[in-house]
Amino acid sequence: MFRAVNQSGPGKVDGGLSFLCWPPRCLICAAPGAPGRDLCPDCHAALPWLHHPCPRCALPQPRAQFCPACRQSDGGALTRIHAGFEYAFPLDQLLPRLKFHGDLTVARVLAHCLAERFAALPRPQALVPVPLHRRRLRWRGYDQALELARPLARRLGVPLRDDLLVRRHATAAQTSLNAAARQRNLHAAFGVRSGVALPTRVTLFDDVMTTGATLQAAARALRAAGVAVVEAWVCARVA
Ligand SMILES: [Zn+2]
Ligand SMILES: [Zn+2]
Repeated sequence: MFRAVNQSGPGKVDGGLSFLCWPPRCLICAAPGAPGRDLCPDCHAALPWLHHPCPRCALPQPRAQFCPACRQSDGGALTRIHAGFEYAFPLDQLLPRLKFHGDLTVARVLAHCLAERFAALPRPQALVPVPLHRRRLRWRGYDQALELARPLARRLGVPLRDDLLVRRHATAAQTSLNAAARQRNLHAAFGVRSGVALPTRVTLFDDVMTTGATLQAAARALRAAGVAVVEAWVCARVA
């Protein structure tokens, strides 16, 4: 018996035991969760799922159509972006809980939702979380994009590659900057780690997309290093 437990690995043992000891509880309303998920069916249905995203940049639209900006441009270094949710209640409270308070239940629950949402999409050759600069990673102790991408990649059976991309500069917080300043702030912010073999197609992953400047900067670094097609998956898209 002990050997069987050891063989299943520490992650599986923890997950299995916590499921047996702790019945799932909704992380939004505290009602009993759906089987195997810390989210109740009502709160799951009420999440701000994106219904009519722009097919290129995922900006919420009133109906299925390209947004005004994408009708006039080719989308830059990113071929297309898929988002699970609009950045609205309760995502605007859940994602800060993950980002600033290390609530990993949020990452697990949202990754489960994103896996459902993205299940019909072509599987990426590599899912690459947008990295934090190592100084910010040391200060915070974890990387919220990676914490979401890891269970998402596992659920979909997609290779997670958090070894490809590095953040060279600790950029100023993007939220305080206008669009032009965001571009300057991010110039050469990312690089591809030398000596790694690159897939031809890469899907970037980030927790929140606002203007897309961060994703574009990361995509430009990958394209410059020889990646042919870069797409992006994001958890929540700011309208
Ligand atoms: Zn609930
Ligand atoms: Zn668009």
